[in-house]
Amino acid sequence: IAIAPFQKQQEQIVLTAKQKHYLYRVLRLGEGSKFIAMDGEGQWWLTQLRGEEARVLEKLEVENQELSISVTLISALPKNGFDEIVRCCTELGVSCIAPVISKRTLLKPSPQKFQRWQKIAQEASEQSERTFVPNILEPVNFDQSLSLFPDSENSAAQHKKYICTARSDSPHLLAYISGQKYAIEQEKPCQIWLATGPEGGWTEKEIELATEAGFQTVSLGKRILRSVTAPIFALSVVAAALES
Ligand code: SAM
Repeated sequence: IAIAPFQKQQEQIVLTAKQKHYLYRVLRLGEGSKFIAMDGEGQWWLTQLRGEEARVLEKLEVENQELSISVTLISALPKNGFDEIVRCCTELGVSCIAPVISKRTLLKPSPQKFQRWQKIAQEASEQSERTFVPNILEPVNFDQSLSLFPDSENSAAQHKKYICTARSDSPHLLAYISGQKYAIEQEKPCQIWLATGPEGGWTEKEIELATEAGFQTVSLGKRILRSVTAPIFALSVVAAALES
């Protein structure tokens, strides 16, 4: 059983009230039960329940299950279904999700929703046995999101940025990712950014701003995907291209 994220202090895991409830009441583990704890940052331990704490028995060597390139999803908040985006994109290997409020976004984000998305990312990472839990950023306006990870000449990583636009003549995302795969792997570390719009799509101005910030417009195929389907499909394309 893997539960994230735990705080390790020397040879003890400090359990929060929620974690104790989960271990003792939901999973019905008892004193002395062993379980696997992960910290969401790549470390896993075999531990044993002891009252209010868990004792670390051994550090586990786990194979890295992450995509070879870090992928950040900038997703305009849809009216419904952002939970699904967080869950599926976490399963598919996203590193970071930046929920954004675009001109045509209808959903009002709240601290409760933000906390729920973090919890979903944690549970989906556990389910997919990921080494890391993706970072869910607090919602910001779309134009602010463009400067969240600025390109810098000294930066060790290069950024490949794509904005998905329906009904355009732009090349398919797959053509870029598979064409660049080998070049990307041989060059210095690289990060991919993917931006997908809300139900009403991006405005012309938003596409212009993104293009100025170094984004390439890409297609996800001939059919118009729902704003919930588009990011999940885009992540699937990247994961399949990188892992095939
Ligand atoms: N009426 C909107 C338009 O024409 O832009 C449709 C928006 S679509 C429901 C929501 C978002 O999903 C789009 O902003 C885009 O980011 C992405 N999307 C959906 N289908 C796409 C496709 N075939 N190619 C590229 N992006 C797509």
